Amino acid sequence: MSKYTCACGYVMNLSQGWSGYELTLIPESTIEGLGDRLDSEDKLSSDQLYETLDEKAITVYRCPKCRRLHLEEEPNKFTTYIVE
Ligand SMILES: [Zn+2]
Repeated sequence: MSKYTCACGYVMNLSQGWSGYELTLIPESTIEGLGDRLDSEDKLSSDQLYETLDEKAITVYRCPKCRRLHLEEEPNKFTTYIVE
């Protein structure tokens, strides 16, 4: 996906490397598990880090104009949250 248009009309261009719109939602338990592995004898490679994160991560697009959050909970299926 190279562009994502928010309900407010703002177009987020996602094709130019990592944009400030793209965030990742990760369970605290996953982060804690990774932290434990960094401290253990079982060294964590960067590939293992990204694999572990990818298994649990939810991609989030945050609109810079209206601050809506668009969560991609399934591939190309978004749930949108709006600021009250
Ligand atoms: Zn917006």
